[in-house]
Amino acid sequence: MKIKFHGVRGSYPKPGPSTVRYGGNTTCVSISKIVDNKVQRIIIDSGTGSINLGTEIVKNYIEGKEDLDISMLFTHLHPDHTQGFSFFAPNYFKECSMKLMGMRTLKKHIGMILEESMLPPTFPIEYKDLKSQRKHYELKDGITFKAKYMEIEVMQAFAPSHPQQGALYYKITDPDTNRSVACIWDLESKIGGDKAVEKFSTGCNVMIHDTQYTADEYNSDKMIVQGFGHSTYPMAVENANLAKVKDKLICTHFNPAHSDEKLDSIAEELKSQETGYEILLAQEGMEIKV
Ligand SMILES: [Zn+2]
Ligand SMILES: [Zn+2]
Repeated sequence: MKIKFHGVRGSYPKPGPSTVRYGGNTTCVSISKIVDNKVQRIIIDSGTGSINLGTEIVKNYIEGKEDLDISMLFTHLHPDHTQGFSFFAPNYFKECSMKLMGMRTLKKHIGMILEESMLPPTFPIEYKDLKSQRKHYELKDGITFKAKYMEIEVMQAFAPSHPQQGALYYKITDPDTNRSVACIWDLESKIGGDKAVEKFSTGCNVMIHDTQYTADEYNSDKMIVQGFGHSTYPMAVENANLAKVKDKLICTHFNPAHSDEKLDSIAEELKSQETGYEILLAQEGMEIKV
């Protein structure tokens, strides 16, 4: 499997000279493998990073390298995880079939929420007028299913670790190699580590974890961010240690206020940590072999 980061910011997009290297787009990650010379891809979240991914998929489709048969998982439905969907190029191809999977919140499935975000006068095209064929699936805590030759396990924390209805967390395993990736965002960890995350992710090869804040920001009494539903870098390391991550911890869902220089200095600091795995900060366009 291969992980690719298409958007690494939390909350809102932050384009501009201070974020050129890590990227300014909001959350979108894809996990793919090649089967019979074609890309088989699971997409997680459709923040603004999914706009470039959509263009990449259409290019692959034209070149015969990938089908317009999209499997998209949503962690939750905040705008930094959905805002790219209406500009996701495969939506404008009638031969595109899409499986949209996420939680049911406030008695609404994922399609109903996306539909609401595309109603006139706030958007020029209505959800129902998109050319893609879309099916909606509700995911619940504890289920396992297969998509795109990969196995997906779903966790929803019992006590929501993210405001409003919480979020879903995914573990994706390649049954051919038994290697796995735990996707842990948006999540505010707990004192002593998040036991649900530990249990869910134990022994995974790669953990991708929310790191919106530094410990100083989280502990500050000036701009209070506790309860906003995000973790710090030490929290991510703590959860990765508890889960005995084998290969890599990849930090993402960055604070939009953190510049390239700031993220470089955080990455440098993390290098001094004694862990049995590598710690990386995600960058837009970065690809990692699992
Ligand atoms: Zn978010
Ligand atoms: Zn959120």
